[in-house]
Amino acid sequence: MKAIRGATTISADTPAEIKDAVGELLIQMREQNGLTDENMICILFSNTSDIKSAYPAKAAREAGFYSCALFSSLEPEIEGALPLCIRVMILAEIENPVPVYLRGAANLRKDLKKFAVALDGPSGSGKSTVAKMLARKLNILYLDTGAMYRACALKAIGEKVERFTEDAVAPLIENISLNIQYTDGAQRTILDGEDVSEKIRRPEVSMAASAISALPCVRKKMVEMQREIARKMSCVLDGRDIGTHVLPDAPFKFFVTASSRVRAKRRYDELRQKGYDVEYDNVLQEIEERDYNDSHRAFSPLRQAEDAVVVNTDEMNAQEVLDFIVRKIQEKV
Ligand code: C5P
Repeated sequence: MKAIRGATTISADTPAEIKDAVGELLIQMREQNGLTDENMICILFSNTSDIKSAYPAKAAREAGFYSCALFSSLEPEIEGALPLCIRVMILAEIENPVPVYLRGAANLRKDLKKFAVALDGPSGSGKSTVAKMLARKLNILYLDTGAMYRACALKAIGEKVERFTEDAVAPLIENISLNIQYTDGAQRTILDGEDVSEKIRRPEVSMAASAISALPCVRKKMVEMQREIARKMSCVLDGRDIGTHVLPDAPFKFFVTASSRVRAKRRYDELRQKGYDVEYDNVLQEIEERDYNDSHRAFSPLRQAEDAVVVNTDEMNAQEVLDFIVRKIQEKV
């Protein structure tokens, strides 16, 4: 069991303000920590003594937190304390607690200042393996942006879209119900209420993702979602255009690459291990085609950001790449 800390402030002591602030805080804590009715045990609140108009626990029930035990308490009046502040501690059966400090309370934890690590590079460069390891090491979120484009492709395949044109795809993407959730630190991709995390890894979805991701209507929508996630929490994002387009101000940028032969071998081994009956030459051809598509599309192509550190992983294993990246981050902070 782990304790997750959080806090927020309100601007006036009214039930509406309390409801709004507590709802926002709990929902972010739930999203960032993968909380569910099953793994959440209890929520403890304490608020400063200038808050008297409603119990934060009542606001929790109103925000949909029905199943776990709730407790509210009042803090003593301390001179110089942050006014109108609501603190919360959630006890839950999770692995890596991510604290959430919002509004005026964000200043209480300057150490939690949000930051992003951008890992861009071509397919099979090993960036997603390293991104996962890095996020775990830094205890921040990993956002696999490729999964989002794959989900768009799966949606279009399911709707029997034959040619990926702006006209055919835009209406699907406009109303897409795509959610990224985290269960015990692992990203789950939920499309139209279905967990498609495994389905989107199928080889035919890879090619379709490469094609559909060239469309501006798709990229605009996905980039909006990615920025929204990065605005709320520190994360490692892997993709093609994170450092150049999604988060050009990210403080840490890496371009992870390898020769197409090495990348194809890695993808081939991975697919074989998962039981797919694939040929090495086809995987290589597919990787080269995807490289071409990704780097030649007009809108936000795969490109190394000028300020990105290049990591060629031909001769490196995942642990070596991770160590290199961590060293570079430490040098910069
Ligand atoms: O990284 P992954 O192979 O899962 O990505 C699937 C496809 O999605 C890529 O071939 C690429 O065309 C596209 N993609 C993208 N921009 C990103 C991430 C992925 O265009 N940020």
